[in-house]
Amino acid sequence: MNHKVAKFGGTSLANFEAMSRCADIVLSSQSTRIVVVSASSGVTNLLVSLSTGALPATQRNAAIAKISEIQSAIATHLELSSQQLSLIDDLLEKVGDIATSIARLNVGEEQVRTQLTDKLLACGEQLSSTLFTQVLIERGVNAHWLDVRDVMRTSSDFGKATVCIDTVVQLASERITPLLEKQVIVTQGFIGSDEAGNTTTLGRGGSDYSAALLGEATHCSQIDIWTDVTGIFTTDPRITAQAYALEEISFNEAAEMATFGAKVLHPSTLIPAMRCKIPVFVGSSRAPEAGGTIVRNETESKPVYRAIALRREQTLLTVTSMDMLHAPGFLARVFTILAKYNLSVDLVTTSEVSVAITLDNTGSNSGGNTQISQAMLAELEAVCQVTIEKDLALVALIGNAIDTSYGVGTRLFSTLHDVNVRMICQGASSHNLCFLVEGNQATDVISRLHHAMFEQNAQGVA
Ligand code: ASP
Ligand code: MG
Repeated sequence: MNHKVAKFGGTSLANFEAMSRCADIVLSSQSTRIVVVSASSGVTNLLVSLSTGALPATQRNAAIAKISEIQSAIATHLELSSQQLSLIDDLLEKVGDIATSIARLNVGEEQVRTQLTDKLLACGEQLSSTLFTQVLIERGVNAHWLDVRDVMRTSSDFGKATVCIDTVVQLASERITPLLEKQVIVTQGFIGSDEAGNTTTLGRGGSDYSAALLGEATHCSQIDIWTDVTGIFTTDPRITAQAYALEEISFNEAAEMATFGAKVLHPSTLIPAMRCKIPVFVGSSRAPEAGGTIVRNETESKPVYRAIALRREQTLLTVTSMDMLHAPGFLARVFTILAKYNLSVDLVTTSEVSVAITLDNTGSNSGGNTQISQAMLAELEAVCQVTIEKDLALVALIGNAIDTSYGVGTRLFSTLHDVNVRMICQGASSHNLCFLVEGNQATDVISRLHHAMFEQNAQGVA
C-alpha cells in the first residue's frame, strides 16, 4: 500500500478547534490511512498525578473532573452515538475506579501499582481517539476506531514495555492492512498489551513510536508527525530566537538529536523508520502550510554542524576502584549491576581507575519514577567507590563527519573558553560530539555555540 500514517500529538488534540485542524490535515491528503493519536493535552499528566496514589481524595476528584471537563468540552461539539457515549462514560468511570484502587494500595504493592498505572494512563488515548474518530466521521471521512491493543503486542514491562515487532507485523497485516483500502483507521499511540491481554505503555511520549511501528508494520510510504512546532529546529527556539527549522535531516542525525534531548520526536521513533527507510515528516498542525522537516535516510546536504541538542537533569555517576588497574572484567561488573536495575547508560568515559557514566533522570518510565535506587547503589558500593553529581546538562553538537573534520574542537572550545566542561565524548559517532556542563550554564552555552556555528555560516557548514 502506498499509504501514510499521521500522528497527532496532545496539543494538536487539545480541544475541538485543534481537532478540527487535524481533520483538515487528514482530509487534505487522500493517502493518509492510519491516524495515531496521543491523549488530549494535559490528560496524561493528570492521569500520572492520579497514578502516584498520593493525592488526597479532594485533589483526586478534582483531577478526574478536569479530565472529564477537557473531554466533555470536545464532546459537546459532536453527535456521538450511544455506543461512543457509553464508551466515554465507561472510560471516565474506569479512571475514577483505578485511581481509587491505586490510592488504597499498600506499600510494597509496587508491581500492582505499575500494572494499574498503565491501565489508567491508557484511558487518555482511548478517550481522545474515540472523540477524534467522530470528528472525522462528521467531516465525511470513513473513519474506523481501532483498539491498538489488538495489534501492539508488547512485553509485560509495565511503564516502559518492549514491543514484539514480529507479532505486531503479523497482527497488523491481519487486522489493519485489509481495512486500509476503504477506511481511515484511527487508533491510539503510547499503549499496547502483553500476551495475557494486560494493558501496557511504551513510556512517556511514546505515541510517535507507536505511529512509526504501525507504519513499519503496514509498509507505509511516509510517517507524518503533527505536533506544535514547524519541524525540527537547529536548537530549541526557546533558548535562542535565532534557531530555525531544518528542511531536512538524516535518520542518523535525527536519532542523535532525539536521544540527546530534542523533544520533538520520541527517541525510539526513528528505529522502525530506519529499519524500513520510511521518511518521517515533522510539522505543526496549527500551521501545516508552513511546511516542516523531512527526516530521511539520505539527505541532500551533509553539513558538519546541523543542530545542537540539550538534555537536562543529567546525573554523572563516577565509579572508582583500584582493582580496575589492569584488571579484566571490572567494567563488565559495573555494567551488569546497571543492567540488572534496568538503567540505560548514555555516555561513558574512562581513566585507568575510574569510569564516569551519565544517566538520564527525565522520562525514565511512564510514571516518571527516577531510577537510581538505594539497592543499586549498595550493589555498586560493594565493588567500588561511587560519587554522584546531579543537575548537569548534556549538550550535543550534531552533524556529519564531526570526527574527521578539522577545527571542530577549536571552534567549540574557543567559544566556550570560560566554561567548565565536565565531561566530553567524541569519536564513537561521526554525527555527534557531546559534553556536560553545569545545568544553569546550559542555555548560555547553547546560545553562544549556535551563534558561532550557525549564524555566521548559513546552514552551518564548517
Ligand atoms: N500521552 C502520552 C504522553 O503524554 C503519550 C504521547 O503523548 O505520546 O506521554
Ligand atoms: Mg505527546
